[in-house]
Amino acid sequence: MEGDSVVLILSKYRRTLKGNMIADMFDRGAVAARRIVRQLPGTALDLLFPLNCLGCQREGKILCASCVDSLPELKPPFCRVCAQPNAPATCHRCLESPPAFDGIRAPYEMEGTVKEAIHNMKYRGLKAAAPELAELLANYLEEHPMPGDVLTPVPLHPRRLRSRGYNQSALLAKELSKKLGLEMNQSLLIRAKNNQPQVSASRDERRENVQGSFRCDGRADGRTVILVDDVATTGSTLSACAAVLKAAGASSVWCLVLARES
Ligand SMILES: [Zn+2]
Ligand SMILES: [Zn+2]
Repeated sequence: MEGDSVVLILSKYRRTLKGNMIADMFDRGAVAARRIVRQLPGTALDLLFPLNCLGCQREGKILCASCVDSLPELKPPFCRVCAQPNAPATCHRCLESPPAFDGIRAPYEMEGTVKEAIHNMKYRGLKAAAPELAELLANYLEEHPMPGDVLTPVPLHPRRLRSRGYNQSALLAKELSKKLGLEMNQSLLIRAKNNQPQVSASRDERRENVQGSFRCDGRADGRTVILVDDVATTGSTLSACAAVLKAAGASSVWCLVLARES
């Protein structure tokens, strides 16, 4: 297959070439090569691309044990509702307009190597990060349990799903479901509106933007839902999801994200 040799050549160079510019060129080439060989199963791609730690380049895992230990943990004080770092127990935003979810919990702040891992999983096709990142979520839950009988990923709009090829939140939820032995339901929530990315929007703008974006298309009656996403920025998307789940009868909606933006 044509794509095979491209990937193999890039993979070989990846080990020998150093320097940001070259690494960047390689990354862009690798993304293109991954696109070419998208039809290969994920595991085959991962074999062609030996994993290197994003923090220290050590070969073997995407995040080695010592880099995991130095990830930026989200530590108190943070808002117990939306997990806003360096905030009182209930931040002023949550007091002013309480979100629809019961709470957001996140093991990390969106910085450093965890940010890079999420970015690679989301935009650079590094699906192999999902099991390791889900492991971090599972470890966190062990120490900070939250009520839940079903895991539900925040859905992507079908059009965005087609262009990215996968939903990174669904990958996390699926891996977490395997680790916890907890049901995952991907059809509970449907994204009906294809919002534009809201990188620079304020919390109010985001809230308006995501209003009416989601529908609940499953049976949420009496369920205790854990919403899974990679990142929480202001919590507006998670709140919009929680609102429709609760309107459909969910008795609680807790949100579990890998990292919280500050
Ligand atoms: Zn490392
Ligand atoms: Zn808050």
